[in-house]
Amino acid sequence: MRLGFFGAAGEVTGSCTLVETGSARFLVDCGMFQGGPEARTKNLRALGFGFDVRTIDFVLLTHAHIDHSGLLPRLVMLGYRGPIYATPASIDLLKVLLPDSAHIQEKETEWQLRHRHRRGTSDRGVPAPLYTVAQALSALALLKPSAYGKTINPMDTVDVCFHDAGHILGSSWLEVTVRGEGRPRKLVFSGDLGMRDRPVLRDAEKVIAEADVLLIESTYGNRQHRSMPETEDEIVDAFDRTRATHGNLVIPSFAVGRTQEILFILADLVRKKRLSPLKVYVDSPMANAATQITLAHSELLDAQTLDLIDWLKAHPEKMKIEYVADVEASRALNDVRSNAVIISASGMCEAGRIKYHLRENLPRSECTILIAGFQAAGTLGRRLVDGARLVNIFGQPVRVRARICTVGGLSAHADQATLIGWLRGFHKPPGKTFIVHGEATASSSFAQAIHDQLGWPDVHIPRLGEYVTL
Ligand SMILES: [Zn+2]
Repeated sequence: MRLGFFGAAGEVTGSCTLVETGSARFLVDCGMFQGGPEARTKNLRALGFGFDVRTIDFVLLTHAHIDHSGLLPRLVMLGYRGPIYATPASIDLLKVLLPDSAHIQEKETEWQLRHRHRRGTSDRGVPAPLYTVAQALSALALLKPSAYGKTINPMDTVDVCFHDAGHILGSSWLEVTVRGEGRPRKLVFSGDLGMRDRPVLRDAEKVIAEADVLLIESTYGNRQHRSMPETEDEIVDAFDRTRATHGNLVIPSFAVGRTQEILFILADLVRKKRLSPLKVYVDSPMANAATQITLAHSELLDAQTLDLIDWLKAHPEKMKIEYVADVEASRALNDVRSNAVIISASGMCEAGRIKYHLRENLPRSECTILIAGFQAAGTLGRRLVDGARLVNIFGQPVRVRARICTVGGLSAHADQATLIGWLRGFHKPPGKTFIVHGEATASSSFAQAIHDQLGWPDVHIPRLGEYVTL
């Protein structure tokens, strides 16, 4: 058997692992590379080197995030026609996320063509979209649902079981048993793992007792997250200060996962009487869709969240949530000058309706911008966190007079202690452990932590494109 590492090796995006056995070839995840000017080139090359996509028998998908699923339409474009297994909730999210991703690709090409035509230059060299909406729809048609805890057989020699990873709705870690080559071998793929004791989702399921091969993510393999009580204090403080100055509170948020988490934290704080009754506007079509999908999968939510949903239904006056659908209603929010809570995407303030809300509210000293997620270098969100006094939005300078508050404790990824805690579920060290999905410093300090705290001997950080024979 051999493994090929074709993404999320030495970085956090582009997750894609090829598994080859004597009788089967399959991929675990097929993610898009994101961030940085070289991402596009990497996405174009991703499925074209190292293996022929038409020889793949099946694909397993750990969860719906684009950095794990975003190249599925490209896989189809290159000729793949086999099944793609994912949990039912992941499939529901993909139905929204993949066509949206394709739409962004098509718009980018259209914009470049228009730009060239305006300048009277030729179309030569304008990159075609990575894939089209039609190709995204073809990828959706290949999805096959696989529920948590049920073993499926994509082929006679391969058993697969999806387990809850507690990261986003429908997220999974995978237990794969390969037979037909001497004794059966067990492979565990962590996918992305969530923090414990966080709102909305259940905690990650514990690992099985043993494995021959383990792939573990390491996004925050070198970090400890702030505790939930500290995070709640920071949020309450931001609300109190904004209420005192009669401004608006604007929260840039990732549409899938983070928006739902913030809504439930706010509702819980109102229930605990730490916040007074609220009116919240969720202004992002994608966040609204993701929230509806989350509520439709109540079987995946933790007990406290179900309890909170019942409380909200019984006390609708305590927290009014308005899901803003059309652009006119979104624009009308510009006229709301005080006491509004506006949650909008994108999470790093680079695109989407959040930019309009920032343009309106940043120049007003009575308002607060609550930053509740990771802000990559070079993004508008990062410039705000770094204390910029003047930013550029839609080509116009905008003064920053609003307070910028950063909440540090919300993360969809497990921190080092949580990752190590999950690994303690193995009764003995896996035969071979691969650390993936982390930047170099995070992966290497996590490898050190595994060595120091668990004493595991065989831990390897693979390189992009590397094959390892087992
Ligand atoms: Zn993820």
